[in-house]
Formats: sequence, structure tokens, C-alpha cells
Amino acid sequence: MILVLFGPPGSGKGTQAEFLKEKYGVVHFSTGAYLRELLSSGKSEDPLFERIAGIMKSGGLIPDEEITSLVLRHLEELDSKNPVKIILLDGYPRSRGQAGSLVDFCESKGKEFFVLDIRVDLAALKERLMSRVNCSSCNAPFSVASKETPVCPFCGSNEVFKRNDDNDEAVIGERIASYENISLEVLNFFDNKRVFIIDGNSDINTVKDRISKVVDVFIKEKF
Ligand code: AMP
Repeated sequence: MILVLFGPPGSGKGTQAEFLKEKYGVVHFSTGAYLRELLSSGKSEDPLFERIAGIMKSGGLIPDEEITSLVLRHLEELDSKNPVKIILLDGYPRSRGQAGSLVDFCESKGKEFFVLDIRVDLAALKERLMSRVNCSSCNAPFSVASKETPVCPFCGSNEVFKRNDDNDEAVIGERIASYENISLEVLNFFDNKRVFIIDGNSDINTVKDRISKVVDVFIKEKF
């Protein structure tokens, strides 16, 4: 089964994914994290990598054909290693074309998929993203107030890094705007029965409970 975590940047997808990994043993595939890892491990002079790095730096989106080919290849790999597990897909689809490719992939593999649509007031997102850091040890994202010493709530490490695209207000604005532009067309593409709306405006634990209630039902029905 593929569970799509859909929501704007800063809506808590990464944090909730950590919790879902712990509670249900899902395999988490974040396209943004995957691309960042690919770029840091790859040859910087590769023209494809250079282009992808430039797009990510500006807060734009990688063209459908390129991202889809990378994502489907990695999904195949994950699926062959973990055939019975739930794959939690975070950051894809981000266009109607990508949504169509995902549906085709699931149909060809006989896989169920559901979408958790995390809704958050867009006005609060800039602030959340400016205060967000990632743990250098386990990569989980979390927020830190400006004078606080960061401690990762998932593994306890106090080594953190700040993503380049979380550092610049203009880039954050671009990412939120791009989500606003595409979210309706992506959600409209899916059958309503597959989309579950989660109110993501509350504290992390309340949102966790809302997501758990939905995931518990999938697990009861499908496994
Ligand atoms: P994220 O970590 O999900 O915020 O993604 C970081 C960046 O990776 C985005 O701003 C895009 O440049 C790129 N990216 C990630 N997923 C996709 C996607 N599905 N389609 C196009 N670009 C993507």
C-alpha cells in the first residue's frame, strides 16, 4: 500500500512521518530528502544534478518527466525490498501529471493507495519554516525557538543543520505559492474516497492522533 502524505511545506509531513515509522514500521520515502541525498552523493559537475540543484535552490519544481522517472525507479526498488510494507510517500505527487503517473504505477502493481491531505493555515507556514532545523543524525525536522539549544525529539542529538531552502524568506514564499498553485488540481484528480483530510493546525500530538485514527482503519481493512 502507498500512503501519500500531502500538504504544504512546513505542514508537519516530515515530523508525522517519523511518528508513522515508529508506530507502524512504514517505509518513508521523502522525494525532497531523496534529492538532497542524491545531490550530496553525486558528481557536482553532472549537468542533470546541477540543474536539479539550481531548481531546488530557487524553490521551484523539478520537471515532471525527470522527477517521475527518479521516483518510480526508487519506488520499484523499495517495493521489491519491502513487498508487504506500507510505503509513505512524502513530496510526490506535486502536479496532475505526477498524480496520473502514481495512479498508473499503483494499478500496474496492484497496489492500493490513499492520500492524507494535511491542511494548515498558509499564513502560519513561513514562521514554522524559518524556525525549522533538521537533525544531523537522523534527519528528522523539528522547530527551535531562536535562543533555544536544539535537541532532536526523535534521537536526542543536538547536532542540527538548516536546509538551504528553509533559510531564505523569498524561497519559502516561492515554495508555498507553488503548493497553492497545484494542490487543488492534484487533489481533484484523486477519487474523493481515497483522500482523507487531516486538520494540521493543532499541536504535533493532536495531529498524530488524527492521523493514527485514519491509518488504523487502513491497517485493519488491508492487513
Ligand atoms: P521538499 O523537501 O518536499 O520541500 O522538497 C524540496 C525540493 O525538492 C522542492 O522545493 C522541489 O524543488 C524538489 N522536489 C521534491 N519533490 C518534488 C516533486 N514531486 N516534483 C518536483 N520537485 C520536487
